[in-house]
Amino acid sequence: MKRVYNFSAGPSMLPLEVLEQAQKEFVCYGSSGMSVMEMSHRSKIFESILEKAKADLKDLMHIPDNYKILFLQGGGSTQFAMIPLNLMNKNNCADYVITGQWAKKAAEEASRYGKVNIVASSADTTFDRIPELDPAKFQKDADYFYITLNNTIYGTRWRELPDTGDVPLVGDMSSSILSEEIDITRFGLLYAGAQKNLGPAGVTVVIIREDLLGNAMEFTPTMLKYDIHAKNNSLYNTPPTYGIYFMGRVFEWVKAQGGVAAMQKRNEEKAALLYDFLDQSQLFRGTVVKKDRSLMNAPFVLPTEELNAKFIKEAEAQGFVNLKGHRTVGGMRASIYNAMPREGVEKLVAFMEQFEADNR
Ligand code: PLP
Repeated sequence: MKRVYNFSAGPSMLPLEVLEQAQKEFVCYGSSGMSVMEMSHRSKIFESILEKAKADLKDLMHIPDNYKILFLQGGGSTQFAMIPLNLMNKNNCADYVITGQWAKKAAEEASRYGKVNIVASSADTTFDRIPELDPAKFQKDADYFYITLNNTIYGTRWRELPDTGDVPLVGDMSSSILSEEIDITRFGLLYAGAQKNLGPAGVTVVIIREDLLGNAMEFTPTMLKYDIHAKNNSLYNTPPTYGIYFMGRVFEWVKAQGGVAAMQKRNEEKAALLYDFLDQSQLFRGTVVKKDRSLMNAPFVLPTEELNAKFIKEAEAQGFVNLKGHRTVGGMRASIYNAMPREGVEKLVAFMEQFEADNR
């Protein structure tokens, strides 16, 4: 069967080369005589898979020695609770910027454990932008300052990070990790679920500065304490072994592409193909203010619901699948993560041009 161009927001397309390599190694990994899925997480061979994945991520993201890399379970949503449980430990308050549903959910979860100060929100314009920040609204004594770097549903991204002084910046990079260069030293904690740019759902990467470890709230469940996982090198309990292996292969693939800077260049070119088309189109319209457009998720609309539905149906018949926008936004959304080849975007744009010519 022919593979389709899958524009899903997540889980999403993975690099074909990695899928094929995983297929080859699926039954027997190296000389082990078994699948990675069948290996003890305490075996030497699995340990080498874990260490290599960590070392490659450290390299790719230029992570300094004073940060721990953790491979956890529970997806991005578990981080919504782990962050306040572990970090709201001095003044029991934190700053949040609401740039979409995921930031909102994170703030709501945090408010169960302490005081949440909403510094800014773009809810009033349906999250079509990153809101302007007024530093006077930042709390000097906040335990951390939280942002969502790429807003998967609405298609916005932070281009400039807020200056939070001594207050640790915490970032959700679930839908943009390894897609653009980022200065990790600006962050106290950065995390990402795997199911967009890294691999199969089930593993979550957390990168945390060492000085933030060890002061979780008294009642924090053991499994939700970062320091427990840090002390045990992500092997406190059985980690998502197959996800870690696959993610490791994706890290190798990103390195072979030239690293994160090369990925970013390619992603900028792919996104420009789509946005340039939208900007000159008489029929299609992008929904995000230009300066805040995401490189990963591009939402757009047609003038009527009927045309939206027609477009999605006809696109699917041509092998461009999962273009329907999130239910809260409507219209369409093309998610063009690292693994989406340039050719996929070129063909989608050609299809959109033809659709416009046929439906004007
Ligand atoms: N954060 C962002 C930016 C996301 O896009 C998502 C899911 O799409 C989440 C968090 C939630 O992740 P999970 O489904 O792994 O809990």
